[in-house]
Parts: sequence; C-alpha cells; structure tokens
Amino acid sequence: VIGLIGGMSWNSTLEYYRLINEMVAGKLGGLHSARIILYSLDFDEIRQVQRRARWDDAATILSQAGIALKQAGADFLVICSNTMHKVAGAVMERVGLPLIDIVDVTGNSIIGHGLSKVGLLGTRFVMEEPFYRLRLEKQFDIEVLVPDEEERAIVHRTIFDELCQGRLETSSRRVCVNIIAELIGQGAEGIILGCTELPLLIHPNDVHVPLFDSTKLHAGAAVNFALAER
Ligand code: GLU
Repeated sequence: VIGLIGGMSWNSTLEYYRLINEMVAGKLGGLHSARIILYSLDFDEIRQVQRRARWDDAATILSQAGIALKQAGADFLVICSNTMHKVAGAVMERVGLPLIDIVDVTGNSIIGHGLSKVGLLGTRFVMEEPFYRLRLEKQFDIEVLVPDEEERAIVHRTIFDELCQGRLETSSRRVCVNIIAELIGQGAEGIILGCTELPLLIHPNDVHVPLFDSTKLHAGAAVNFALAER
C-alpha cells in the first residue's frame, strides 16, 4: 500500500495518482490499479511555514500525515514535492516507515543515462539549498547547474503563482524553455524538472536533451517498490 503525502500542490498530486495507476495497469494488466492511501494537505499551510522558514513545523505537519497513513495501513511513504524533501529525513525517522526519496530516484536516473552534468529547475529551495543540489553532487557525483538569480526568481514565481494554482501560461513556458536553453549552452547534458508541477508546463518535445521528470520518476519508483513488496 502506497502512502502518498500530497496536496503540495494538488495539481501534481493528481499526476502522481494518474501515473501510479497507469504504471500498475501497464505492469499487471487488465483492471489492476494501485493500492494508495492519500493524505492531501492544505498547501496554504505548507506555504506559510516555507515563507517563515519554519522547517520544524513543516516536518511536524508531514510527520503527522505520515503517521495517519501508517495507521491506515500504508507500507511506505511518498512525499509528492521536491521542496518538501528538505524534511524527508525527519519525516521518515518520526513515522518509522520507508520513504522513496525523490532526489535519490532522480540522481539514479541521471547516472543511468550516463550523464554527469545537468541543469536543475525547481523552487528557490530546490535550486539553492544543499538538501537537493549538494546531495546530487556529493552522493551521485553529478555537477548541477542552476539558472542565475533573476531567472531563479522567475521560475520560483511561475511555480507558486501559476502552476500550483492550476494555471499553464504559454508565455511562462517560453521563458522556462529559454532558461533551459541557457543551461544547455553552459554544458548541461540533461535537465531536471525538480518541481512536481513543472512537467505540466514543460514537455520532452520542448527540450532537445533528456528531461528528468521528477514526478514521473518518483511515481515509477513508488510502483516498483510497491510491486516488489507483493
Ligand atoms: N511541488 C513543488 C515541488 O516539487 C513545489 C511546491 C512545494 O513547495 O512543495 O517542489
């Protein structure tokens, strides 16, 4: 049973739900679908603790959701947000269930493609803080390029003001694709869509290098883990 901690935002949680079910049906065939328990949070509450940098509170909110999922019968946890992996270690410890780490899943996929230098798009937290970048650099020996400060602000704003509110704007897609092109110009061999809403806006056809869609990779890893447990 997959325990999803979602609602960050619900727009990407919907994708997790669809992708996981599609992949399970693809592997098992027929009418098979995934056993999922979803705890969908109020994203406004999460956003407020992010703004105030109250990461302890964030860990508490996610851990409480995780404990509820465990009590309901979840075997492992999936946090449906790259950003909130900042507290993934604390959540795993407090809940006492295995957790599929989105950074590790993405790192393994990059290594699997034989790449060692990639561009990273996500929220400010993901692009700037050690829990994401440094983990890729230290544990996977991957060089990570991020957009410059002004561009990071644009990507961050696009995520919260548009994508997390279900808005997909052609102008924002164009801007993000240009930012990606710059990273490729700087030597990025692939691009991490390190925000679970970004794949709603940017598609493999928009970019001519491998795209690492963190939502799809994470959902796939959850399915593999769930089916291995059967
Ligand atoms: N879903 C996004 C992510 O993957 C951003 C929303 C959040 O701050 O959790 O990072």
